[in-house]
Amino acid sequence: MPELAEVEYYRKEWNPGIGHPVRRVDLHPGARLFRETSTDLIRRRLPGSVLEESRTHGKNLLFRFSGGAWLGGHLGMTGELRTEPPGYQPGKHDHLVLHTDAGALVFTDPRMFGRVRFELSPGEPPEWWRQLPPEVLSDGFSAARVTDFLRRHRRTPVKTALLDQTIFPGIGNWMADEICWRLRWHPARPCGSLDAGEAGELRKSVRQVARDALRVIGDGWQEPPDTWLFNHRWDRDHRCPRRGCGALLIRQDLRGRTTCWCPACQMPAE
Ligand SMILES: [Zn+2]
Repeated sequence: MPELAEVEYYRKEWNPGIGHPVRRVDLHPGARLFRETSTDLIRRRLPGSVLEESRTHGKNLLFRFSGGAWLGGHLGMTGELRTEPPGYQPGKHDHLVLHTDAGALVFTDPRMFGRVRFELSPGEPPEWWRQLPPEVLSDGFSAARVTDFLRRHRRTPVKTALLDQTIFPGIGNWMADEICWRLRWHPARPCGSLDAGEAGELRKSVRQVARDALRVIGDGWQEPPDTWLFNHRWDRDHRCPRRGCGALLIRQDLRGRTTCWCPACQMPAE
């Protein structure tokens, strides 16, 4: 499932289209992806518009077109963006294809838990975008915000809390496990057990893992280093990569999400 770094990677996949007008739109009007938007409006307003810029916010994407048109996207579980050569014939799961002279901008999503939005909002991004919470790498993601959230979710396991998009936008399953592992915290540790200093450490670790993920995955999707939990969580012989540890990692369901942790370095709070 794409998290903030994967979403950033996919955003750039449409970069070849920047500065080019959309010549034609192919879409599957009945696709669940469009459940919140008018495909007629997309078909009417997008042709002739020029893709001007794109941004991400957590797991959300936004593409600005000339004429005040905004195309928003969420990749859900299996969504991907890519550019195909001009004249590309859309495949079964290519639910939205914007044809430009520079290539065909493709939104593909086999399972369709993703979402496409389209709004006309001259001058500023659409309302839903402006209401998103502060990004984890922004100044608005303050220690006070994190502390307040933890106080209001005292019984929630820290791993589960990390998946809450209203406070940690863009953090998903693998990043949440990576954050707990780097902090040496048991993922089931309740938020209420964290003191003020630990809340600060949590905020710092979230930002560090986000920066690392953006550097390695968001920029060209390189292979994450072996020093991260990431490369070991799905191995058959999945051992903790921390120097001097090497204990067998545990993989278990925690509140509905598969969670990976090291029983030797990640101790429950007393
Ligand atoms: Zn370990």
